[in-house]
Amino acid sequence: MKYISTRGNSPAKTFTEILLGGLAPDGGLYLPEEYPQVTRAELDAWRKLSYADLAFAVLSKFATDIPAEDLRAIVRKTYTADVYGNGRADSDFSQITPLRTLAPNLHILELSNGPTLAFKDMAMQLLGNLFEYALAKQHAELNILGATSGDTGSAAEYAMRGKRGIRVFMLSPEGKMSGFQRAQMYSLQDPNIFNIAIHGFFDDAQDMVKAVSNDHAFKAQYKIGTVNSINWARVSAQVVYYFKGYFAATQSNDEKVAFSVPSGNFGNICAGHIARMMGLPIGQLILATNENDVLDEFFRTGVYRPRGTAHTYETSSPSMDISKASNFERFVFDLVGRDGAKVREFWANVDRASGNADVAAFDIKDTPYWDSLPKFDLASGKSAHLDRLKTIREVWEEYGVMVDTHTADGIKVGLEQRRPSLPLICLETALPAKFAETIREALGCEPERPVGLAGIESLPQRVEVMAPDVEKLKAYISANVGDQ
Ligand SMILES: *Cc1c(COP(=O)(O)O)cnc(C)c1O
Repeated sequence: MKYISTRGNSPAKTFTEILLGGLAPDGGLYLPEEYPQVTRAELDAWRKLSYADLAFAVLSKFATDIPAEDLRAIVRKTYTADVYGNGRADSDFSQITPLRTLAPNLHILELSNGPTLAFKDMAMQLLGNLFEYALAKQHAELNILGATSGDTGSAAEYAMRGKRGIRVFMLSPEGKMSGFQRAQMYSLQDPNIFNIAIHGFFDDAQDMVKAVSNDHAFKAQYKIGTVNSINWARVSAQVVYYFKGYFAATQSNDEKVAFSVPSGNFGNICAGHIARMMGLPIGQLILATNENDVLDEFFRTGVYRPRGTAHTYETSSPSMDISKASNFERFVFDLVGRDGAKVREFWANVDRASGNADVAAFDIKDTPYWDSLPKFDLASGKSAHLDRLKTIREVWEEYGVMVDTHTADGIKVGLEQRRPSLPLICLETALPAKFAETIREALGCEPERPVGLAGIESLPQRVEVMAPDVEKLKAYISANVGDQ
């Protein structure tokens, strides 16, 4: 299996070759040359597999250059009930992503039982083990540099802690995260994890990361890398739980289902799209946005109008506060018929539109792509703060299940957009314990917290506080990495 760039101007590469990198050299994102297909016989056999063995079956189709016994060892080490055992007391952790049935044909797929209580652990934990494996083979090291306002940074740290050959330097805005989020990250005592609290906002931290990454000499000398959501291995790891959820919600492979997906960077739902392209019988994919509704607007009206940070709202489902979905280009590639030249033209149109105050957006209704869109069967909708509170309350009162703000957005839009003939599987992307403030607002009580995490706020914390000064950051990295 080789991977090609969505912009069509980069050489094809293997899974391992693209594992540690980001964008392709031509600025595109990597995708398989062709989506591997799953036969009916395979589907029948996969229905009975444990999560780890299912992950092996699915990932074998993507990571064809990793020897089978190595890949099997990596997924078995990753997907254990021990790692994914932080959910509600009555969850069946042996399933890794247990399905919780609220009512006939209405389910929640629990993806948030990993160490940081959000679905990003599903892919990031695998990435940690894949990175360690690949770096050991190449006798190489990697220093991951990132900025976080909460979720991604902690998922990366919990995935990389204690891994040989890897260090993580994670910047966060000082005093801007919740006490729980701070405790989750800063209480890690592993010597390869470096938390840096920046005097300033998330954007200041992000700018520092960009400045260091643009210093190509420094970047090469100190082997600086990232773990962002365009990483192909992350997307492929997410394909697995669509299969798992489908098998759990159906009796036979003749049935179809709908998935509802709270979306930000389009990574999660992109994996669902790929699962369907591989032959998983998904009837409908439902994309939910919060107040930052660029993608909902596109799928409903054909108008693509990405916004800058100044027009991105801060909401109570903060992990979806995104106005330029980085993985959306992977869908665009399929929409335009997998033609790199057309993808380049698509973005050129978007750029032209954004540069012109009169034509604030690119409208695909003027293109043949509008006619192709329905064949991808992607419905969309939006959920705002009051919808979120209402959904959290209704799910709590009707089913006795507490859901977080992001999952609530998915449930609201899923119920609105589903075709009644299809069982609906709503993806749970975080646990309510992470968003206590909004839970209090909705329900007037504290969210349940997984047993292992009681009182983490009182653990000792390890964090370097720093001014937003790029030279200080470089000096800090260099002092902690040593001479290269
Ligand atoms: C990252 C995240 C999302 C958005 O997922 P994408 O893959 O970026 O679309 C939704 N909910 C939570 C809790 C997240 O952490």
